[in-house]
Amino acid sequence: MIHILPDHVINQIAAGEVVERPASIVKELVENSLDAGANHISIHIRNGGKSLIRISDNGSGITAEDLPKAVLRHATSKIENIEDLDRILTLGFRGEALASIASVSQTYIETKTADSISASTITLDHGNIESQHQAARETGTTINIENLFAKVPARRKFLKSDRQELAAILRLIQEIALAYPQVHFELFHNGQELINTPARKSILERFYDLFPAKDLQNNMIAISNEEEGMKLQALISSPIVKRSNRQQQMIAINGRTIKDYRLAKCIEDAYHSFLLTSEHPIFFLQLQLEPEVIDVNVHPRKMEVRISNLETVMSFLYRSVRGVLEKQILSVKPDLNAEFGIRNSEWHSPAQFTPSIFSKAENHPQNNIPYSEFRIPHSEFSSVHSPNIGYEANELFPEQHANKPIRVLSQITNSYILCTTDKSLMLFDQHAAHERFIYEQLKKTRSEHSTQALLVPTSLSTTAEQSALLEEQQENFANFGISLEQGGPNQWLITGVPNLPKSLEIDWATVVMNSFDILHQESLTHSLQDHEDDILHTMACKAAVKFNDKLSMTELQRLIDDVAYLPGIYTCPHGRPFRLELTFNELDRYFKRH
Ligand code: ADP
Ligand code: MG
Repeated sequence: MIHILPDHVINQIAAGEVVERPASIVKELVENSLDAGANHISIHIRNGGKSLIRISDNGSGITAEDLPKAVLRHATSKIENIEDLDRILTLGFRGEALASIASVSQTYIETKTADSISASTITLDHGNIESQHQAARETGTTINIENLFAKVPARRKFLKSDRQELAAILRLIQEIALAYPQVHFELFHNGQELINTPARKSILERFYDLFPAKDLQNNMIAISNEEEGMKLQALISSPIVKRSNRQQQMIAINGRTIKDYRLAKCIEDAYHSFLLTSEHPIFFLQLQLEPEVIDVNVHPRKMEVRISNLETVMSFLYRSVRGVLEKQILSVKPDLNAEFGIRNSEWHSPAQFTPSIFSKAENHPQNNIPYSEFRIPHSEFSSVHSPNIGYEANELFPEQHANKPIRVLSQITNSYILCTTDKSLMLFDQHAAHERFIYEQLKKTRSEHSTQALLVPTSLSTTAEQSALLEEQQENFANFGISLEQGGPNQWLITGVPNLPKSLEIDWATVVMNSFDILHQESLTHSLQDHEDDILHTMACKAAVKFNDKLSMTELQRLIDDVAYLPGIYTCPHGRPFRLELTFNELDRYFKRH
């Protein structure tokens, strides 16, 4: 027996595609608000959206006459015929979101248009209209969704923990907020304000509102490029910034936040040779294409679009990003003469200049030369302008280094350290060596549970999503010797750190912020504990000096003193060798002196 399904069953089936989880409801409702021209959107969530999702906007509103139609399936004000789909300028067009959402929840809508005197309301219980009234409110719309999936236990069962559903919503709002910097977004969870980002003029300002991480400040590059019907506004991270995952890569096409693996890949390709393959850039792309070249009707939740001239778009993106990166890299080449200057002046007055090897001055965005080097008057290094040739290695050293078993001769390409011992020449990979040292120290600290309280806590500005993750993992961080306390809605304090040897000054804020890379959404169910070794690796890697960090002689020697004597250990925690030794005997043999 074949029979036609009743409307409410059809809607519930459709809801299976459109309404996957609370974040997908938030997406549809926020898109409706944006389509209605709102420039202020408030989102209230309870229990990860399972008990409440309420979105209020100041958009155009819905007339009393249209309101009952809005919740019908295939009811839309946005298209009339199939040709309209080819030049669609709104985010919505399927006319099924409200009907689907209403069919799996208790829904209440309150809305007023600018030219009506009063507002209209409608209450629905799992798709059935219960009541309609008049009310008073400002122009705009509020949609209230409660008890999601209460009558669809099969779907309710698939929802993740409140925190994970919340994290998905936060990520979504971050993406949309980046695509619409001129719109004021607020998000509250269980009454607590997690996002409040006022209207902004540029995506750069909006970006820093949402991603206040210290290592991103001044390290995001804005791109603006235009070519034959394609327009790109983008923010990309400078290659100094590295992430071990793709969590902060976002793409919006014609105002739609979408997932597109191929476009993301072509941006990563543009970073080729600037980043290792295991490192990923941060980027946010806002691409405008002619409506005709994209097909938006290929995914029920509109997460993908099909692009007819994909190759052209990819080439445009690649060239735009690559060009900017190449220019940026050319402009940060250090001046070789300056290098001689610092070395020499430092040898003569070591007491004046003994910064920690972790002083991050060398990360100045415009220039790789450490800040301290700018301060040396030109006259001081002009006297040592020409390199000394024909010296004894030991002559080159300040007093304090002369009797070290392994003595630093020089840093090579800001990445390798050339040293000498009484019977050999040695080369160290500065990052790998330092990473291994820190890793060993962290392991020791971890097994001894030794934490030292910080006299002055370090403060961390986080995104709302990161704050939720920190809250969940607070105890696990404590097990690693990092004590965290919440200082405000998106503010955390590091109050204690692992007890490492005093010579090490580690930027713990960066280490904690970078641990998020391992804590991304999907792995939330695993605790830090399950990934103990991964976390130690990541911490060590983030805390270590970088390949390309320019270090002073004192810093180099200190690093070598730390790493040179790790008994029997010659590789970084990932297994790459960090030292190479050439004995004078081997050299003599090579040069046929024996
Ligand atoms: P679609 O967005 O695909 O048109 P929806 O089911 O999401 O379909 O919404 C149906 C209709 O309800 C929209 O076309 C629009 O006219 C109206 N609507 C929904 N939400 C809002 C809102 N926040 N402000 C104004 N109108 C809205
Ligand atoms: Mg819609």
